[in-house]
Amino acid sequence: MTLEVNCPTCQNKVVWNESAEYRPFCSKRCQLIDLGEWSFENHKISSPMKVDAEISADMIEDIEAMLAANEQDFFKE
Ligand SMILES: [Zn+2]
Repeated sequence: MTLEVNCPTCQNKVVWNESAEYRPFCSKRCQLIDLGEWSFENHKISSPMKVDAEISADMIEDIEAMLAANEQDFFKE
């Protein structure tokens, strides 16, 4: 039996086995595209801070929690 998943970036079928180095992505290219989108999300999170000068301790806690969650995603492989 073969387990197949769809590449999150291009939706190609990826056979899930030891040799599928970039699973669940079909290729390094698709993996990098996904990481690029991840950093783009980070930019969107950080930009409103420049507009709002009032940063409360609660906000900093929220942001730190958000960054920690992102890092965990990032290092999951
Ligand atoms: Zn792909």
